Amino acid sequence: MSSIKQNIEQVISQIGLAAEKCGRNADSVQLLAVSKTKPIAAIEDAIAAGHYAFGENYVQEGVEKVQHFASDSYPQPITWHFIGPIQSNKTRPIAEHFDWVHSVDRVKIARRLSEQRPAEMAPLNILLQVNTSGEASKSGLDNDEILAAADEIAQMPNLVLRGLMSIPQKAEDYDSQLAAFTQLAELQAKLKETHPQLDTLSMGMSGDLDAAVAAGSTIVRIGTAIFGARDYS
Ligand SMILES: *Cc1c(COP(=O)(O)O)cnc(C)c1O
Repeated sequence: MSSIKQNIEQVISQIGLAAEKCGRNADSVQLLAVSKTKPIAAIEDAIAAGHYAFGENYVQEGVEKVQHFASDSYPQPITWHFIGPIQSNKTRPIAEHFDWVHSVDRVKIARRLSEQRPAEMAPLNILLQVNTSGEASKSGLDNDEILAAADEIAQMPNLVLRGLMSIPQKAEDYDSQLAAFTQLAELQAKLKETHPQLDTLSMGMSGDLDAAVAAGSTIVRIGTAIFGARDYS
């Protein structure tokens, strides 16, 4: 068995335990395998293990991977999630290749994605990235900008607004992790008063998956625990 297959099984069982602990159904938490910087062969191993949802952070690398797998057919369609920072001049390849974008942090980015989404493709699923820690240096909308941004983006024809995403400040202890994720879940609950169709909370990575599930995450984005440490050299 490949180590990637073992790692995926391990992460799925961790999600199951975390869900069980807080009385949630394990099926309500989707695993997104974050394959950024990892080779095609690693994604092939994950697919062979029955996993079909991948997250990428860098436009060119992500598009190359989407194109590589586009010609093959699999028992299930592969879904590609863009989760990295977005420059406004790089929106077109994202709009043309991905199924989801988790990192929309400005209305302008959403408008471009909607305009550039090809008519023959399904609408692009959108999550608004929230800066829950309120740091000026971090990307993401501030809490007070979210409602207005959601109202505008929900009107855009080639997008479907699905929910919120955050990358909280790194915290080692469970209680601080839980507090940050709970903030995002509360914001989503507030947003649902005017946008009841929202169904997705993208939160939790390799180091804070348990707290994210406890706070109501519906997509955990897991890289290191599946593919091993990344080498940026
Ligand atoms: C890299 C990355 C992840 C995966 O992080 P790990 O700690 O390796 O699980 C998740 N989300 C985003 C936005 C990332 O950039």
